[in-house]
Amino acid sequence: MKVTVVGAGNVGATCADIIAYKEIADEVVLIDVKKGLSEGKALDIWHKAPIDLYDTRTIGATNDFAVTANSDVVVITSGLPRKPGMSRDDLIETNAGIVKSVTEQIVQYSPDTIIIVVSNPLDVMTYQAHITSALPRTKVMGMAGILDTARYRAFLADELNVSPKDIQAMLLGGHGDVMVPLPRYTTVGGIPITELLENDVLEAIIERTKYGGGEMVKLMGTSAWYAPGSAAAQMVKAVLRNQKRIFPACVKLEGEYQIDDCYLGVPVIVGKNGVEKIIELNLNEEENKLLQISRKHVVEVMNVLDEINSI
Ligand code: NAD
Repeated sequence: MKVTVVGAGNVGATCADIIAYKEIADEVVLIDVKKGLSEGKALDIWHKAPIDLYDTRTIGATNDFAVTANSDVVVITSGLPRKPGMSRDDLIETNAGIVKSVTEQIVQYSPDTIIIVVSNPLDVMTYQAHITSALPRTKVMGMAGILDTARYRAFLADELNVSPKDIQAMLLGGHGDVMVPLPRYTTVGGIPITELLENDVLEAIIERTKYGGGEMVKLMGTSAWYAPGSAAAQMVKAVLRNQKRIFPACVKLEGEYQIDDCYLGVPVIVGKNGVEKIIELNLNEEENKLLQISRKHVVEVMNVLDEINSI
């Protein structure tokens, strides 16, 4: 099995490293526009193989998409990350052009691939990759929900002093500030979170999760990479191993949740065909209201993308 990771920056290199280290694929191609960057990082990951004992071959390429031919999965991480004071939406103009151009080249060499988008603004870059690739909607997903729920689960594990392994959670909606947390679907070792935490403590954790990306940008001057890279690798694994995992992922909605033509995070089953199924939850009035607010925000940014693409 072959995976390409586009963008050998912080998130892309981390993702490639995890795919190799965990032997999720036989071969990982790392590709970037910066000469030598992906070759160097791919070689460094390969140098680690005799230490960490894995067989995954890692190959770097500068701008030569022929090397990516016949990839089973492609992860797109190319594009600018946020700087302090920026929103994800501020990245749209630069990243739309980058995602469009790399997607064209990906499908030229891997016409049946499955694409996992990481570049921000996530939901709208998933839209860009989908329309540019012309792949079925089941083959283009965005990674955000795994990261957002992971942050939420990590904060809960700290608060409750329990293992993060025992915390299960689901959320909906756009990436980050416009996410729709679902405490009703959060459990700790099978126990509903509402039985373990006071409402105000839970609300504070939800707020911190919404701005979890911003917290990282404030600390480091750029966005996070360990958890995002790992989250993308987890999606790759679910596809290549046909795991049928349930993740929150960004997909095109065509009537699900009474939403049409919008790219939003929802629970999906991920397997060898990409998005095998979209799970529709029975939302209550409040959750539905929040999902509609999230939809409105994403549609506004999708409209900006349409304008950019029409120029
Ligand atoms: P980075 O700057 O470290 O790496 C981006 C890389 O993309 C750079 O090496 C750059 O040279 C490369 N690149 C630019 N144009 C390219 C092109 N046309 N072809 C190939 N490579 C190209 O940034 P990062 O921290 O790795 O973040 C990457 C993206 O992921 C950003 O847009 C960031 O906002 C996003 N991100 C998303 C999530 C999420 O949850 N979805 C989380 C973290 C970061």
